[in-house]
Amino acid sequence: MGFADLHIHSIASDGTATVAAILAYASDHTDLDVIAVTDHDQLESSLIACDMAARFRVQAVPGMEISTSEGHLLALFLSTPVPAGMSFVETAERVRLFGGLPIVAHPMDPMARSIGSRRLREIVRQYPGLLAGIETDNGSQLDLRTNRTSQRLRWDTGLPGLGCSDAHILSAIGNTRTAFIGHSVADLRRAIEHGEVVPVPTRRPARFMYQHLWRLALRYGLGRIDEA
Ligand SMILES: [Zn+2]
Ligand SMILES: [Zn+2]
Repeated sequence: MGFADLHIHSIASDGTATVAAILAYASDHTDLDVIAVTDHDQLESSLIACDMAARFRVQAVPGMEISTSEGHLLALFLSTPVPAGMSFVETAERVRLFGGLPIVAHPMDPMARSIGSRRLREIVRQYPGLLAGIETDNGSQLDLRTNRTSQRLRWDTGLPGLGCSDAHILSAIGNTRTAFIGHSVADLRRAIEHGEVVPVPTRRPARFMYQHLWRLALRYGLGRIDEA
């Protein structure tokens, strides 16, 4: 059994750690097998993480978090960046075109741009096979009960469920994980594609809330309220 955390932000977007620090933390302080650095609307930092990962225990897959016109979409195993601002469906189709797996990020999150349940059900019905998964457990939700709605959507849509930290600080990495059969990057991709992944619910220390709120306060102060 392997574990992956596939939604992590670096200083390339609104995270607080460098790519090297993320790889070092995941290697030395977690039991994660695979991570993905998924910065907002740029793939570069994730490609750097993949290049650097050979020097660390943990493996890395390329990815980014794309701001579609209808909410955030995670793109994993992506080879080419996909621009922001397109519809959810068009963005997911581009991700597939470039060999990636489109994953719904934090659906119905009140704090970040997110797709709603009615629209998501509609897309799943009209475009079967387009989406590769849904984030059912997001470790950066202020109120973890928000994840229950995503978990219900997972059963309603039949999409594979993933657990991700959405970490913006080092200590949050791995607080929410996806379990899969195997340990390698290839095992992980196969598991997602076959729906053989299990989201591991969030476990985080009490100090997380203080650190998270402090980071949010800084972000609100900078006028950047739409990213998560
Ligand atoms: Zn997001
Ligand atoms: Zn995010």
